[in-house]
Amino acid sequence: MVEMVDFDEALKTLNGVLEIEESEEVEIEESSGRVLAKDVVSNYDFPLYNRSAMDGFAFRLADLEKMNEPVFKIKEVILAGHPEKIELDVGECVRIMTGGKVPEPCDTVLEFEKCEERDGKVKLLKVPKKFYNIALKGEDLKKGEVTLTKGTLLSPKHVNLLASLGMKKVNVKRKIKIGIISTGDELVDITEEIKEGKIRNSSKYALFSQIKALNQEYFDLGTVKDDEEEITNALKKGVEDLDNDIVLITGGSSMGDKDFTMKVLKKMNAEIPVKKIAIKPGRPTIIATMEVDGKKKWIFGMPGNPVSTYNVFNLFVKKAVEKMLGASGMTPKFLRGIMDFDFKKKKDRLHFVPCKVEVENGVPRIQFLNYNGSGDFTSLAKADGFFLAQKDVEFIQKGEEVEFFFIS
Ligand code: AMP
Ligand code: MG
Repeated sequence: MVEMVDFDEALKTLNGVLEIEESEEVEIEESSGRVLAKDVVSNYDFPLYNRSAMDGFAFRLADLEKMNEPVFKIKEVILAGHPEKIELDVGECVRIMTGGKVPEPCDTVLEFEKCEERDGKVKLLKVPKKFYNIALKGEDLKKGEVTLTKGTLLSPKHVNLLASLGMKKVNVKRKIKIGIISTGDELVDITEEIKEGKIRNSSKYALFSQIKALNQEYFDLGTVKDDEEEITNALKKGVEDLDNDIVLITGGSSMGDKDFTMKVLKKMNAEIPVKKIAIKPGRPTIIATMEVDGKKKWIFGMPGNPVSTYNVFNLFVKKAVEKMLGASGMTPKFLRGIMDFDFKKKKDRLHFVPCKVEVENGVPRIQFLNYNGSGDFTSLAKADGFFLAQKDVEFIQKGEEVEFFFIS
């Protein structure tokens, strides 16, 4: 019997994944989904100058103490992009537009709506606090401050910041190269005719798409028969000739008469820390490593059924990629929701079950989805996520809390 490890234990083996050092420059608008290779340090104060946040009047608040009534004389108009050097006497103010540089002695801006303007003078209808409506120099970010740390998974929300720092390009980790070998005598490609006993190789395309969504690079290492030599050659090509960081082998990872992944890995002297995992779907998952030219390659033998492959990629391969990039936030986020139906299972493995998720009054409700097992790609397509039914649990009652994650 092949030893079966629990989910957490299998995940732990991926702590041995080493971070790559190679990086490349990409245009900032192309950087979403990539991982920052160096800390980003601010070369300026932000804002760069005291900036008006409103259209209004700028004045020195302390002047009010020396004035009989809150009526200022308007000395100048300051527009955004046109900083002015001006001298102001007590009781003098400037008309200023949003984004304009608040001139030296002024420390407060009152918006037009709270002012009454007449004959070159303005009466304040409200006395604000000092610094009101002013974005102060350096209040968002100081020169020399680390603003984004190495390992940050970049997304559109970071791009304003990079652009404002004057960065046209940003240094990101190179893409992780992932090769895919599809195995199975029964597999036919998308455009081939499908006959009884055959099945379309769908998992390959799903994996391509999962890798692309992760912003990494995929290589088709071909579809091979359930044949030891063919699998060996494809694996050698993947890890040696094409220098992939990770190779995924779909199908043949179990103990059937025609399952060769384990045999091939042993023959190639791979280390095989995980031979089977107590999860459903995905039990016949193999995690192995091979040393090629001083580099550690990771090989995942995954069951070929669509839901299994999807799940194993989502939970394990993503984790390996994340570690290689020294990043976080690429793997599914486990959340909590309330079951909307009863669920029964054997006390055998940790189950990941496709489900619908509706948020009601702020609470995620886990809803039933007809699911006929790991070959059922229609449920996968309809699912919002997977909920978890723990290994030792036999029954989950409607209303109980469970863990789940969203999928895409
Ligand atoms: P295996 O993992 O080889 O034991 O295969 C398990 C089931 O998944 C079998 O019914 C296979 O026909 C099916 N299968 C294997 N590889 C793929 C694939 N690439 N695409 C779709 N189904 C597959
Ligand atoms: Mg097979």
